[in-house]
Amino acid sequence: MALDMPLRRLFDYLTPVAASANSPTEAAPEGATTPAAAIEPGMRVQVPFGRQRLVGLVVAVAESSDLPLERLKPILAVLDERPLIDAGALALLEWAADYYLHPIGEVLAAALPKSLRSGAPAVDTHEQWSLTPEGREAQARGEPRRAPKQRQLLTYLGARDSVTADELAADIPHWGEAARALRARGWAITAKIPTARPPAHTGPRGEAPELAPEQRTAVQTVSDALGKFAPFVLHGVTGSGKTEVYLRLVEQVLERRGSALVLVPEIGLTPQLVGRFRERFADPLCVLHSALTDTERLQAWRGAYSGHARIVIGTRSAVFAPVPNLGLIIVDEEHDASFKQHEGGFRYSARDLAVVRAQRSSVPILLGSATPALETLYNVENGRYTRLTLPRRAEQAAAPRIALIDLRNNAAQAGISTPAVQAMQRHLGEEGQVLVFLNRRGYAPTLLCTACGWISPCKDCDARMTVHLSANRLRCHHCGADEPLPVRCPQCGFAVKPVGQGTERIEEALEKMFPGVPLVRLDRDVVRRRGDMESAMKRMSSGEARILIGTQMVTKGHDFPNVTLVVVLNADQGLFSSDFRSPERLAQTLVQVAGRAGRGARAGEVLVQTEFPTHPLLLSLLAEGYDGFARTALLERQQASWPPFSRLAAVRTSAKTADAALAFLTDARKLARPPRNVKLLGPVPAAMSKRAGRYHAQLLIESAERTSLHRFLDGWLPLIDPLPSARRARWALDVDPIELF
Ligand SMILES: [Zn+2]
Ligand SMILES: [Zn+2]
Repeated sequence: MALDMPLRRLFDYLTPVAASANSPTEAAPEGATTPAAAIEPGMRVQVPFGRQRLVGLVVAVAESSDLPLERLKPILAVLDERPLIDAGALALLEWAADYYLHPIGEVLAAALPKSLRSGAPAVDTHEQWSLTPEGREAQARGEPRRAPKQRQLLTYLGARDSVTADELAADIPHWGEAARALRARGWAITAKIPTARPPAHTGPRGEAPELAPEQRTAVQTVSDALGKFAPFVLHGVTGSGKTEVYLRLVEQVLERRGSALVLVPEIGLTPQLVGRFRERFADPLCVLHSALTDTERLQAWRGAYSGHARIVIGTRSAVFAPVPNLGLIIVDEEHDASFKQHEGGFRYSARDLAVVRAQRSSVPILLGSATPALETLYNVENGRYTRLTLPRRAEQAAAPRIALIDLRNNAAQAGISTPAVQAMQRHLGEEGQVLVFLNRRGYAPTLLCTACGWISPCKDCDARMTVHLSANRLRCHHCGADEPLPVRCPQCGFAVKPVGQGTERIEEALEKMFPGVPLVRLDRDVVRRRGDMESAMKRMSSGEARILIGTQMVTKGHDFPNVTLVVVLNADQGLFSSDFRSPERLAQTLVQVAGRAGRGARAGEVLVQTEFPTHPLLLSLLAEGYDGFARTALLERQQASWPPFSRLAAVRTSAKTADAALAFLTDARKLARPPRNVKLLGPVPAAMSKRAGRYHAQLLIESAERTSLHRFLDGWLPLIDPLPSARRARWALDVDPIELF
């Protein structure tokens, strides 16, 4: 059995049957609800642990234990009638614990909503009232004579077998007190009855649009593979109709009485996708994401577990959701970094786990993206995945023209170059809409004192505080530190000034350049609630707003059919980074932003401002598109032996001092005896070592062979777990890290 604790082990307990066989005089423990024979892997049980009672998850039922019988404690209660985690999902979780080398108890805990981990019932129940034989006799005698309300209730219940609390409330106002009195007299009883919610499939509603030939081929190919494991990449440029392919396939799965699991990057950012599913299917949806409250999460989880909701849409952790009769998995925007859990102890890639889940469940999986991850494209190249391409944009609009603007010899005002301003004037004059992209929120990234050189440092991070002018605050985007905006330099008292551009400053500048032209800004400062985002998007899609200024947020799944010009203000942030993945991320962002242009009938124009117009990455992207870029980038990775041509793991630490963060890694490295094909790199402090008051460091482990890497880690981790220096630092292992410091 697995318990939610950071220990790399399982625990043995006696099943109630074995316990009573061992001590026949002892009665079955109080609270046991299920006969022991019914204990199955995936069920929750309550067990004694030291002085505590804990909820554990049964991983296996065995005939024997390595421990002597007298040392085994009995299970106190079985909490479920059927497994919470079915065999397929359990196999996935055990695989994940193995692959990510993480304690199984914590891995299983990650798969369940918090309230289930503390023992909440897995199925919805409702209260049902009925009379006891004594109650019926009392009713026949016309009792109780002096309590008319109780008598009324007794008569009401006497006429029925059983009644739910809801029905009672509807028929007899203020019934509660009288009912409790009847129960106290032994005349009425209550029972918790599981709420039966049969699955409903009513078929799609509304007219589905005609499919383009490539869409039809994609649907046909995946649908031919239903019922067996087959991984597909749906590589479709923005606006090519990937969602319609998803909808058609889900429809087929539902018709076969199956369920579909759809993973999306961040639900708040993809309301359109969920909306499309709701529009098409009358079937109940189960939507799981990080913004749910515990109660909402439990409700959504129950909907999926009961088989009521047969379309499960969710972010990262929904890869563990219960999906009875799983028929298909879809991962939309599969390249998105949010599929990777890179915080906390259990770090996993939901996209990669989705592939394993599909394999274990023998169902096809569809990885959709306009800019597939290089790892994914490599899997296409070596024949592991089948690529389905949607080359055309749905409304037949031509692909956007992309051009660079050299910032070195074009004057820029507030970060916007003259050619960009002219292009904006032209497109606005032709009734087009303009999208201005800058991946930096706030007014300016720093506040500078020209007299003494003070540049708004964050006390807790190796970073500058960002100027938020309208809020009149300085904020750190790394730790959330927040202080009043100083008017004078805190160091020398001289006047200070904001340096550089953020979206807030661009909005101010554009308001001056284009007076009277309505504009909207879309970034995390504006979009505090989901409603704000929807209203901003509505202003844009209705055509009321003409200019949209936005961060990364605008690249995620929103349709702005009348945007004819996209201006990327600064493409240079990703060009020179120590992380081997940053060119890939930059290319993905540029292609995704460019994809917002010209989605209607008109072809779009994309202008990218840069100080490095001859950078090979930008040139290959311009000349050959994303595919060409991917080929070049994969070659570079091969030459440098980066993933997917090697396997990586990182041990990351954080501690109160820089020394403590490094000390543990140094000690850990000393204990390592890697084979020749496993290399350890570091330890090194993180590029931004201090963050939120803690210091970070990492040790990289690299190998060309996955099995060698895992064999090494398997032997090494138990050695470093008990290191004394581990007590002064938090550490976590990250297998297949996607961000390197
Ligand atoms: Zn100063
Ligand atoms: Zn900070």
